[in-house]
Amino acid sequence: MRAMVLDAPGTRLRLADLPVPEAGAGQVLIAVAACAVCRTDLHVVDGELLDPKLPLVLGHQIVGRVVEGGGRFESGERVGIPWLGWTDGDCRYCLSGRENLCDRARFTGYQFDGGYAEYAVADERFCFPLSETYSDVQGAPLLCAGLIGYRSLRLAGDAERLGLYGFGASGHIVAQVARHEGRRVFGFTRPGDEEGQRFARSLGAEWAGGSDELPPEELDAAIIFAPVGVLVPLALSALAKGGVVVCAGIHMSDIPSFPYELLWGERAVRSVANLTRLDGDEFLRLAPEVPVNTETEVFPLEEANEALGRLRAGEIRGSAVLTL
Ligand SMILES: [Zn+2]
Ligand SMILES: [Zn+2]
Repeated sequence: MRAMVLDAPGTRLRLADLPVPEAGAGQVLIAVAACAVCRTDLHVVDGELLDPKLPLVLGHQIVGRVVEGGGRFESGERVGIPWLGWTDGDCRYCLSGRENLCDRARFTGYQFDGGYAEYAVADERFCFPLSETYSDVQGAPLLCAGLIGYRSLRLAGDAERLGLYGFGASGHIVAQVARHEGRRVFGFTRPGDEEGQRFARSLGAEWAGGSDELPPEELDAAIIFAPVGVLVPLALSALAKGGVVVCAGIHMSDIPSFPYELLWGERAVRSVANLTRLDGDEFLRLAPEVPVNTETEVFPLEEANEALGRLRAGEIRGSAVLTL
């Protein structure tokens, strides 16, 4: 099968001809139709996440059809494979509804080969059935940009005035869910990115500006999608008392020191790690109700390096998706 393979961090992906993987016990083999590109993929390529399988097939927002194996899905059924690929199921985190924090968790496109390939295998317990509302391409970004965004939004509590720092794959989905829930959305982009700010307003943000600007009103919560630590004190300075800054990325540059005054008033800073299967069930039920429309830019599998490069440069509107 055709696959784009990472041999070592810091190198370009290589087009390879690999054997079709075999589904083991409890696994399904799926023919990949589409795989969305995540910011996390860039962190793996850049060596910022320290425990990848190598060589590695990246990709953890996979849409495809079941070819064989498993008892949970019919052959030919469409499924989505997310980032969370396996947990032990018996640690204190797993037993308390927090499998996203499992110490032994393994992840798709990181410790298991992922979806930048014609076929992928996955533990069927961690796959999601996917509503036919969405095409393969449009459904793919729901599986991480959507899921992690949804979990971030839940951790923002019942905030009415919500700031979104970074209006890419996740931000553009969360904005739609937040508006659906009756929240007020304020969008922050790179300073001077007027195109991004127009995009934010087109998705229901009542105000959009640069991340170095303060919004016209204080925020009850802010979600930071950009992997940029300097945004944390900036977002804190935009918060009302009791507000929370939620850091949604798996990796972030260092957070500069800031005066305690920014945190005072019961403001909080927290991160979001991974997803639970419950998050996935909830979000994938909600998405067609909103309905969430995903903006996508499509690349053939062989152009995965170009897709990653465009994402790195901030040139992707919505989400990049590889098709097979
Ligand atoms: Zn566990
Ligand atoms: Zn991801």
